[in-house]
Amino acid sequence: MLPVQRTCGVLHLEDVALTALAECYGTPLYAYSASAIAARYRAFTAAFEGHPHRLCYAVKANSNLAVLELLAKLGAGFDIVSGGELERVLRAGGDPGSVVFSGVGKTVAEMERALEVGVACFNVESAAELDRLEAVAARLGRRAPVSLRVNPDVDAATHPYISTGLKENKFGIPVAAAPDLYRRAAATPSLEVRGIDCHIGSQLTRLDPFVAALDRILALVETLESDGIALEHIDLGGGLGVRYEEEDPPSIAAYATAILGRLGNRRETLLFEPGRWLVAEAGVFLTRVEYVKENEGRHFLVVDGAMNDLLRPALYGSWHSIEAVGDPTQAGKTETVDVVGPVCESSDFLGKGRQLAACAGDLLAVHTAGAYGFGMASNYNSRNRPAEVMVQGNRHMLVRRRETLDDQLALERLVAGSLDAPPDGA
Ligand SMILES: *Cc1c(COP(=O)(O)O)cnc(C)c1O
Repeated sequence: MLPVQRTCGVLHLEDVALTALAECYGTPLYAYSASAIAARYRAFTAAFEGHPHRLCYAVKANSNLAVLELLAKLGAGFDIVSGGELERVLRAGGDPGSVVFSGVGKTVAEMERALEVGVACFNVESAAELDRLEAVAARLGRRAPVSLRVNPDVDAATHPYISTGLKENKFGIPVAAAPDLYRRAAATPSLEVRGIDCHIGSQLTRLDPFVAALDRILALVETLESDGIALEHIDLGGGLGVRYEEEDPPSIAAYATAILGRLGNRRETLLFEPGRWLVAEAGVFLTRVEYVKENEGRHFLVVDGAMNDLLRPALYGSWHSIEAVGDPTQAGKTETVDVVGPVCESSDFLGKGRQLAACAGDLLAVHTAGAYGFGMASNYNSRNRPAEVMVQGNRHMLVRRRETLDDQLALERLVAGSLDAPPDGA
């Protein structure tokens, strides 16, 4: 069940009216349902009950501390892609021993910190990275737990910007190159081979790419076994899609059945790195109509939320459902409208060609905004990033206050003449 429902005419997130949230915290605003995130986490682990497994939530999907805290309390591990995400997990009370560290560009400082706190595994993406990790671990007198992120060269059949498992993508190590690198890692005292990893893309709505990737990984696991290299875990990444519009992503049960069916009698621990699937549908983005505008027959709702707050439509042409929050029986005439923000870019839209009845001052809800929403927000056009609130039942709490202009300007300074050329002869 989706956490956003219409009760007595007004859209609610769990038991809280979205109108009340907007009054309390202002707009634009992100609001997340704690119960919805928890329900998804539990459904995922339940689907894999009976097989050793761990969910490592992909922090980049929504890295708000309260979201991480909630998932840590539920027992989740974390998939991180930067040192910053590692610090967030630690601040939120996450166990570093449950963290897997992904990403193609890990710096020396990031490796040092991850070794110091004791992450569960580095998902290594290149031979050069393996060299660097070996050297850093040796210098610190530690053994770095590693898994190689393999690129299985399968088409995830998703948007090209969020497809990562094809050989032309920058991610991972080609399957053919993996056995040599594993042998090298296994023979290196400062490295400890733990597992194998892949992540083929995001917002996948079919099972066959996952199955094709798993088949290639399993073939590789067998090759490694015959080389005497045993793995503790198989990490299948994230990528399971959600429903934004008419998509029909597989259920978690179907996903689990497909994967467990392929696995046969293998008992390696399965790791998963879901991001979007856990948080997207738990979130709603609230924005208020500033102006209703008509240009030669085209209708626009100019709203106070923009591409700097929610980038997905501008970046990927993504579609988010948009609904008026107030009672539809009290609304005026429905028009075909473009919902656009105040940013000076034609790509600044939240939705185009929508059927909406709204006037200036009305509140709109942009659905399925819990993943890759706030995390991609910027200060473009010197706009303060929105506030974030967490809702549970009939209670709500601010989990990130709205930015202020002072927050934005705090890191900058005026030149005030200090770069002027010194006088001749000085
Ligand atoms: C982004 C990412 C994920 C999460 O992807 P979702 O589509 O949000 O599930 C998992 N693993 C890695 C390595 C990623 O880069």
